[in-house]
Amino acid sequence: MDSQFKKIDSLLSEKRIKLHTFEPSNRKIWTVVGTDREYWFNPDLGFCSCPGYYFNNKCYHLEFFTLAKTKNQIELITFSDDEYESFINSLISEL
Ligand SMILES: [Zn+2]
Repeated sequence: MDSQFKKIDSLLSEKRIKLHTFEPSNRKIWTVVGTDREYWFNPDLGFCSCPGYYFNNKCYHLEFFTLAKTKNQIELITFSDDEYESFINSLISEL
């Protein structure tokens, strides 16, 4: 198994792509758990905050997001809108 395949396999099987939904506004934030930290990404904008995207303008998180979605291998987490701000702040402070 080559390392790229392993990465993708664990990305899917460990449900490392997470969709955080804030209610009742229904705002959605996508994150993916990388090797050492969590990255924020936006599939609609085609943006990811990981170094791979930063250097190459593409990364396997975005590439395999569609596959994860098709296979339903996404962790769904629901928050309340009250938590939105602190969630964003903690996400941004990690960038
Ligand atoms: Zn990425």
